[in-house]
Amino acid sequence: GQPVSETADVVVVGGGPGGSTVATLLARSGHRVVQLEKESFPRYQIGESLLPSTIHGVCRLLGVDEKIKNAGFMHKRGGSFRWGKNPVPWNFLFAISPEFAGEGSYAYQVERMKFDQILLENAAEQGVDVRQRSRVNGTITDETGRVTGIRYVDADRVEHQIDAKFVVDASGNTTRLSKYAGGERIYSDFFQNVAVFGYFENGKRFPAPDSGNILCAAFDEGWMWYIPLSDTLTSVGAVISRDKAEHVLNAQEETLLHYVDRCEIVKDMLSDATRVTEGTYGEIRIRKDYSYANTQFWGNGMVLVGDAACFIDPVFSTGVHLATYSGVLAARSINSVLAGAMTEERAFTEFEGRYRREYAVFYEFLSAFYDMEQSEDSYFWKARKVTNFDRNDMTAFVSLVAGAYSGEQALTDPEQIIERFSASTAALTEAAERTGGMDTDSGQRMGHLFGTQVVRDVMEEMNAFQARGAVGTDGSEPPLLDGGLVPSADGLSWAEPAPATV
Ligand code: FAD
Repeated sequence: GQPVSETADVVVVGGGPGGSTVATLLARSGHRVVQLEKESFPRYQIGESLLPSTIHGVCRLLGVDEKIKNAGFMHKRGGSFRWGKNPVPWNFLFAISPEFAGEGSYAYQVERMKFDQILLENAAEQGVDVRQRSRVNGTITDETGRVTGIRYVDADRVEHQIDAKFVVDASGNTTRLSKYAGGERIYSDFFQNVAVFGYFENGKRFPAPDSGNILCAAFDEGWMWYIPLSDTLTSVGAVISRDKAEHVLNAQEETLLHYVDRCEIVKDMLSDATRVTEGTYGEIRIRKDYSYANTQFWGNGMVLVGDAACFIDPVFSTGVHLATYSGVLAARSINSVLAGAMTEERAFTEFEGRYRREYAVFYEFLSAFYDMEQSEDSYFWKARKVTNFDRNDMTAFVSLVAGAYSGEQALTDPEQIIERFSASTAALTEAAERTGGMDTDSGQRMGHLFGTQVVRDVMEEMNAFQARGAVGTDGSEPPLLDGGLVPSADGLSWAEPAPATV
């Protein structure tokens, strides 16, 4: 028969952190928002290591910071890396940047089953019509090709149709909706890895106060993460070449344990540990983690947020940050258009420009970081050396990553970015050599690393964002992009920048 039909201002597809962020901020502004999630929460997801700007910036803006604070998540003061030439791990502390000093100098390691549920429940409490076990299986388009709604099937297999002014695709890396925005997904030739991961009880901890740090350790065949989720539970994963995927699929446990055995420091951390073999954490999982970006982040009444839009290799724990940050940007743009304050073109150009800029900075940082590992006789590391790979492939993806909207020359000119890759690579390598050693108490010595332009770019924007989440803005900040917009005082929409005073 006919589907059950209704209308809303905005439909958000996906109940992950990206979806919950955009949905909450739209409902806050008084719009009718339906958020559809195919699973019944709590559901498993990978991506457990968070960044301070998510916790202190976005979560505060969402009004969920107290709940997150009381959830008992592991404090993360930074990361420990066994990377580059030095065999001794060095520490990266959030507190090293002045903006993060004091209260904001930490993030959390989270069980995503808990974290995502808190965000989704918060969305519902703030007025979002959240429907779980509701799978979106199609869009509705008008004669111009604009998406004017979606179809979904609920838990009782009843078909529904919702007409809406905007559809946000926050349905993650397996999205089938993103193409309706008008673009296509392009994969980086450079970062095409596969991850195999599982969970262990009673793995070792670094001495306090760094016991909550993520450990990332390079070894010949790739690198491993070691994320303490509680005093006893640890998430452990190996990131390896994609050509190993088939083998991993056939022998997941054997493969994970093989890599643990090959990675000296992780092997030691797990020497008294036992693998969890029951329940959700008993499963060993595999995910390809190819970096990709869509050629368009918005169009035809659709907006892409989080993994539905783009994804970058997990070594710096940026996935949830990009998902929630893009959720904030998307909500500002939709709020501005629905309020009649500006055209779609103006509002979403700001969304896409800022989003691509953030992605581009991480992409550059990442490339430099991968290039730092100097195992010349390892296929994995050699294949990912920036200096080795095809300039044409690199140029194509870099120009996509940066996008045409970013006002910054250095981010729109692929040749310049490649030059900067090489420059920042050298600086990172040099810094790592100078600052070897378990740098737990001072952290200061890693200051060299933060002196590089590329790291400063990343930190500055995240710091500004975190500060904005905490104290809002008086509307006097300059636009981030040439000719661009600034956040409104409440942080929920865009405003034209104040005219420059002479
Ligand atoms: P998701 O969290 O994937 O949420 C999408 C939701 O949409 C899901 O709940 C799904 O059920 C739902 N959905 C899908 N299709 C439909 C449909 N048709 N209808 C309704 N609902 C639907 N990030 C970090 O920040 N830190 C890390 O340490 C980290 N480690 C990672 C390690 C690996 C190996 C990988 C692959 C990724 C890692 N990430 C990490 C990235 C992180 O997992 C993602 O970036 C993040 O989960 C994206 O959030 P999202 O809201 O965009 O999508």
